[in-house]
Amino acid sequence: MQKLNIIPPRSGVAFILKKGERLKVVDIEGEQVSDLICYNLHDKAEYLSSGRTVDYAETIYLTTGNHFYSNRSNIMFDIIEDTVGKHDFLLTPCSAEMFRITYGETEPHRGCFGNLCEALEEFGITPDNIPTCFNIFMNVPVDGETGKVSVLPPMSKSGDFILLKARMDLIIGMTACSAGMSNNYSFKPIGYQISQD
Ligand SMILES: [Zn+2]
Repeated sequence: MQKLNIIPPRSGVAFILKKGERLKVVDIEGEQVSDLICYNLHDKAEYLSSGRTVDYAETIYLTTGNHFYSNRSNIMFDIIEDTVGKHDFLLTPCSAEMFRITYGETEPHRGCFGNLCEALEEFGITPDNIPTCFNIFMNVPVDGETGKVSVLPPMSKSGDFILLKARMDLIIGMTACSAGMSNNYSFKPIGYQISQD
C-alpha cells in the first residue's frame, strides 16, 4: 500500500492509474471537494464523460456500484466504496472565468481548471480537452421541480473517502478544489493513495 499522498490546498496533480489498481481519495479535514478527470492512457481522445455516465446510471447522484463511462461508452472506473454517497458530476471545474462570471471577482484564482491544465500538460492534454469533472464530495442538490442547482457545503467529514477501481489504464487529473462555496469557505488538502488490490 502506497503512503497517503497530499494535494495541498488550491492545487492539483496528475498521475497514471493502471487497470485493476485502486485509488482512494480521502477528505483529510472534512468538507473539501476534489475534482477528478481521467483519460485513456493509450488514446487521450477518450475521456471521462458525464453525459454517458449519467445516461447509463439513470441518476445524477453516483456512488458505490456505479460505472463511469468514457465518451466512447467504455467503462473507465467503478466506485467500489464510498463513505459519503454525495458527489457532483454536473458542473465543470472551477476556473478564473467562473469566479469572474458567478462571483464578480476582479483578480480571480485560476481554480481547479487552471490547476488541471498545468498538471495534465506533461501528458499532452490541452485546456480544450478538459471536460466536466467528477467532483468528489461536492454537494450539489437539484430541485426536481424547478431544476434549480445549488452548491452546499460537502457532507464529508474528516477521514471520509471514496475508493475507485480502474477498468482501463488511465491518466488521472485531480485537485483540492479552490472554490469557496464548494468547500464551506476554507481551503483544505486532499489525500490519495494507490493500491494494487
Ligand atoms: Zn474547484
